[in-house]
Amino acid sequence: MAKKWVYLFDEVAEAEKYAGSWEGVRGLLGGKGSGLADMTRAGVPVPPGFTVTTEACNEFRTTGKFPEGLWDQMLAALKVTEKKAGKKFGDPADPLLVSCRSGAKFSMPGMMNTILNIGLTDQVVEGMIKLTGNPRFVWDSYRRLVEMFGTTVFNMDDEVFEHPMAEYKSKKGYKLDTEMTAEDWKAEVSTFKDVYKKHIKSDFPQDVYKQMELATKAVFESWMGKRAVDYRKATAISDDLGTAVNIVTMVFGNMGDDSGTGVAFTRNPSTGEKKMMGEYLMNAQGEDVVAGIRNTQQIAEMVNSMPEVYHQFMDITGKLEKHYKDMQDVEFTIERGKLWMLQTRNGKRTAASTVKIAVDMANEGLITKEDAVLRVTPDVVDALLHPQFDENAKKKAIVYAKGVNASPGAAVGQAYFDADKAEKMAKEEKQATIMVRPFTKPDDVHGMIASQGVLTSEGGATSHAAVVARQFGIPCIVGASMIKIDLVKRIMEVDGNIVKEGEWISVDGTTGQVYVGKLVTSAPSLEEQTDLLTLLTWADDIAARKDIRVLPDGRKAPGVQVWANADYPKDARRARSYGAKGIGLCRTEHMFFETERLPIVQKMILAETSEERTKQLNLLLPTQRKDFDGLFEAMDGYPVIIRLIDPPLHEFMPDEEKLFEEVVSMRVKGETKGLPEKEKLLAAIKGLHESNPMMGLRGVRLSIYMPEIVEMQVRAIFEAAADCSLRGIVVHPEVMIPLTGTVKELEWIQPRLERIAKAVMEEKKVTFTYKFGTMIEIPRAAVTAGEIAKLAQFFSFGTNDLTQMTFGYSRDDAERNFLVTYVSQGILPKNPFQTLDREGVGKLMQMAINDGRRTRPDLEVGICGEHGGDPESIEWCHIIGNNYVSCSPFRVPIARLAAAHVALKYAGKKIVEDK
Ligand code: ADP
Ligand code: MG
Ligand code: MG
Repeated sequence: MAKKWVYLFDEVAEAEKYAGSWEGVRGLLGGKGSGLADMTRAGVPVPPGFTVTTEACNEFRTTGKFPEGLWDQMLAALKVTEKKAGKKFGDPADPLLVSCRSGAKFSMPGMMNTILNIGLTDQVVEGMIKLTGNPRFVWDSYRRLVEMFGTTVFNMDDEVFEHPMAEYKSKKGYKLDTEMTAEDWKAEVSTFKDVYKKHIKSDFPQDVYKQMELATKAVFESWMGKRAVDYRKATAISDDLGTAVNIVTMVFGNMGDDSGTGVAFTRNPSTGEKKMMGEYLMNAQGEDVVAGIRNTQQIAEMVNSMPEVYHQFMDITGKLEKHYKDMQDVEFTIERGKLWMLQTRNGKRTAASTVKIAVDMANEGLITKEDAVLRVTPDVVDALLHPQFDENAKKKAIVYAKGVNASPGAAVGQAYFDADKAEKMAKEEKQATIMVRPFTKPDDVHGMIASQGVLTSEGGATSHAAVVARQFGIPCIVGASMIKIDLVKRIMEVDGNIVKEGEWISVDGTTGQVYVGKLVTSAPSLEEQTDLLTLLTWADDIAARKDIRVLPDGRKAPGVQVWANADYPKDARRARSYGAKGIGLCRTEHMFFETERLPIVQKMILAETSEERTKQLNLLLPTQRKDFDGLFEAMDGYPVIIRLIDPPLHEFMPDEEKLFEEVVSMRVKGETKGLPEKEKLLAAIKGLHESNPMMGLRGVRLSIYMPEIVEMQVRAIFEAAADCSLRGIVVHPEVMIPLTGTVKELEWIQPRLERIAKAVMEEKKVTFTYKFGTMIEIPRAAVTAGEIAKLAQFFSFGTNDLTQMTFGYSRDDAERNFLVTYVSQGILPKNPFQTLDREGVGKLMQMAINDGRRTRPDLEVGICGEHGGDPESIEWCHIIGNNYVSCSPFRVPIARLAAAHVALKYAGKKIVEDK
């Protein structure tokens, strides 16, 4: 017996048995097919029909033919459908019409083909007119079929149909389709059939089975169409999945004023507000609503015109939401007062609504807090913290136009009036572009994805442009109807104000306002995003549970904490407001670069005696102390890790080449004033010259060579900590020694520094907890971590340097020259400077943690490289037993969410040792 390729909508149980899970059913029948079947099972009114599986599609794509048994099974299923509908396919006396609809596992709205009204022929038309007494509706349906058939089965251009139609309407003086009479549509059918014949070189098929066969094949083929392929590339959906085909009994929204069609979201997909948002059109069919061609009505208005249908609709959609535990995007049609559901799926939404809906649904008890946290991916949080237009800049700017705020965010770019041009300018010329169109179609998606923002003059919040933009997080304004777009002159105009193609515009998708020129953007504040704050608190609670991880010795431990890298008090304050639980890295060298300090620093470096050096350092001490004071105050109650001076000394000196030129030119001109000093400075810089300074005299090596600097720094740290402590601030200073390669370095320097720490506490008569530790950024340190932990009370992996030294790559050179090739050739899976290399660098970390904790069981371990803010790297840090990750303040919210995700993923698992 041939394989089962076809499932009736009420055969969902069989599909489940074959596929093994609901996930499997979705793969087999596609999202649309499984939704229709699921709704049928739940007793929701769905027109009868059946689904051809994705497996059949994949067979067809490899062989170019229907697989064995498929056609017979389709005919058999059609028979059952005829029975349920009480009509017969191709029978003029009581004809069944069907639609042939694509539907893959993951919804790809509008990316593939759907053909409506299959089953209409010259003969059937006559019968239907008798039956319905509505010739206008029948002729309208027929011309739609001819057009859709031509464009989807034979890839004819829409224009070849639309053009004669527009001409006809203007000849008659019509503006709207609704003005067309039965006679008009009949005339159009004959025009459309002529156009069809002229292009296809054969008549429009009068055999209804041929229609169904060709339509099914066209849907299969649309899986590999450019639109669909582009879309899948942008959303990382696999090409192998294939699409299912749904044959659905037609119901008609264009049968008069008690009929209509619409689309709706059970919650607002833009803001997340718990309020039905949708649009419908009376006396219309299919895509009329989404195409944004006619003015739609809001769902809420239906309560007056058709109260019963409205209440039934609200009831059904409410149940669907409860059933799928998610916001639904539904399509429906009303035929002579009867409601039919044509599709339900989890709706696409913006980042803001993703968070709000997750939080609301958890509060409503529909899902758990864990579910809510898991539903929000780190990149959603990233999007929410993206720049927005600066309020002051907006106040000063003049609003050029206003439309519907369809997808939030700020976009600045050059206006381009078609998708190809927008894509070309963005990709080839590397320009920021805004795609501007009257409305968009599925063929325009590539231009939208390439652009910073999208602006349309027509369409509403569920129009194609709006839906696609929301999904890809592209700021978008639709229906800015005061804008007149002239696609021939390539300009847009509002009241005589013209913007030419290529001019800069700014599009605020949050408010719906358009500006001419480039508006300044700024980072949004987290405090106002209350839903996100709630979600992040839940995330923190999850990661902080005491039994998330099991230590090698069997003790239980929480997940990873998130700390931040912050050099200045203002960064620390931001980090804290973003939820950081400590400072994992404060770099101190910037403190030496400030204009009033640099000359002192240079004198200190040039000092010939230790006394002279100490004298200069004493001048620096008070300002250093002040720097740290602000940091401790901002982080009251939390640990603050301060790294002692790290870069090579030449970085504090003037540029050698420039100085040399100055000296030479002074000598030539015979100028003597200041020359000896400059010559001395030049000689000193020459003395500091190293051929590979990044691997030279820096970090702990510099501290051993010139201990006075770090001695001053430690004194400043502890004096500040002591002062703060006396003011009632809870301080936990941790002093980090950079670039250790052997424990002997720590043995040399650390006791001297600890003596200073103790001395300060004695002087100030105050005690507080503190730690001394080191950065692990040299492979040798990782390998000898067991020894190093004898002195170091904490490790912080400096994974930027550790990655450079483990791979032997210089980051700048690698990223400029060969990393792209390495990744594209599959030599490296990803850029190791962005995502931690688990096998190499990660393995070293793992080893270091194990060996370190064998020496010192309560060793505190963190990471302060850029990887600390990368979700995949955070996962690794969790697995190997880091206490915290430290990242840039801006990434703290993302890291908090990522930490919760991995805590849930590995809940209760043992930390993995390197054996
Ligand atoms: P897409 O995947 O692009 O949304 P669909 O297969 O959902 O494509 O079809 C698009 C529209 O066509 C639907 O929203 C619906 O309005 C209309 N449609 C499809 N099938 C039928 C049908 N059997 N009866 C009436 N309208 C239909
Ligand atoms: Mg649809
Ligand atoms: Mg380093």
